[in-house]
Amino acid sequence: MLSVQGLSVTYLKGGTQIHAVDDVSFELGRGERLAIIGESGSGKSTITQALLGVLPNNAVLRADGGELDGVGIFGDLTERQWNELRRGRIAYVPQDPNVALDPVVRIGAQIEEAIRWNEPHVETLARAARAAELLDAVGIDDVDRVARAYPHQVSGGQRQRVLIAIALVGDPEVIVADEPTSGLDVAVQKRVLDLLDEIVERSRVAIVLITHDLAVAAGRSDRILVLEGGRIVEQGPSDEIVTAPEAAYTRRLLDSVPVLRTEKLAPTPGLPAATVARDDGSPLVVVDDLHKTYVTRDGRRGKTVTHATRGVSLTIDRGTTYGLVGESGSG
Ligand code: ATP
Ligand code: MG
Repeated sequence: MLSVQGLSVTYLKGGTQIHAVDDVSFELGRGERLAIIGESGSGKSTITQALLGVLPNNAVLRADGGELDGVGIFGDLTERQWNELRRGRIAYVPQDPNVALDPVVRIGAQIEEAIRWNEPHVETLARAARAAELLDAVGIDDVDRVARAYPHQVSGGQRQRVLIAIALVGDPEVIVADEPTSGLDVAVQKRVLDLLDEIVERSRVAIVLITHDLAVAAGRSDRILVLEGGRIVEQGPSDEIVTAPEAAYTRRLLDSVPVLRTEKLAPTPGLPAATVARDDGSPLVVVDDLHKTYVTRDGRRGKTVTHATRGVSLTIDRGTTYGLVGESGSG
C-alpha cells in the first residue's frame, strides 16, 4: 500500500542544517497498523508531512523511492496530483484539534466542506446527511447537537472524533495519525484509539500511528518502527519489539512506560509548616453541596446550560494527599 525507501529530510534554518529524518525506509500493507515511536524531535511529524506532501518550504527532501497505492510520491508531484492522492488515498488525523478545526465554523459545516472538497458534485442536502453519517460512524451519540456546535462547545474527545470523521470523508486507503490522542485524558484516549482500531477492522484501511508513547503503540499496532534523532534504531513486529527489544534506546523507552502504582503515597513533603503547626484535628477545607453551572449564550439558539458539578461535598484533612479522578468533562 505504502512504501518509503531511504527518506531523508533536512531543514534549512538561518544557515544551519537540521537533519530531521535520515535514511528511513518502511512498508505498510493493506489494513496494516504501523506505529512510529520516538521522543520529541525524533522526526515523527516530519515523516508525516513528507507522506502528505505538506513539508514547509525550508525542508529539503531526498528519497530513493516512495509509492502510495502504485503512485510515486517523492518525485515532483504537482499540488493537483497531491490533492488527487489526498482525495481518497491518504488522510491525516492531526495532533491538535484546537488548531485543526476552525473555531468559528460549526462542526457540521466543517465536515460538509471536507466532503465538498473531496466530491464537488455532491448536493448540499446529501452533504449534510453524509456529515451526520460520518459523525455517527465515529461514535458521536448526539449527532445533531455536535453538528450544530462550534468546536469549543464539545469535549476534547468529541473534537478528536470529528477530526477522524473528516479523515474518513474520502474513504482513504491509509490514515496517518500524528499523536491523535496526546491532548486527551487516559480514558478518552483509550476510546479514541479503540475507534481507530474499529475503523481498521471495518474498512481495512491501513494506519500509520505516530506516538511517543510505547504503551499506546504496543497494543495497537502490528509493527513498530523506533526512531531516534531521525534514524531508525529498529523496526519489527510489535510483540517482538515490546518483549525483546534489541536497541538500548527502545529499552529505555520501555522502562519509561508508567505502571499503575498501588502503594500508599506519602503526604507531599514541604506543606506549609503553619498548616501542620495549627493542626487541631478539624478539616482544612469543607465543601458542602457544590453546584456549578455554566451558561453559554449562543446568538440565535438561545442559551445552553451545563451542570459542571451537581452537589459535590468533600472534606480535605490536614496532611493528607487526595487523588481527584475523573474523565474529561467530569467536573
Ligand atoms: P514531537 O514529538 O515533539 O512532535 P517529532 O518527532 O514530531 O517531535 P519533528 O517535528 O519531526 O519531531 O522535528 C524533527 C526535528 O526537525 C527537530 O529537531 C525539529 O526542531 C526540526 N524541525 C521541525 N520542523 C522544522 C522547521 N519547519 N524548520 C526547522 N526545523 C524544524
Ligand atoms: Mg510531532
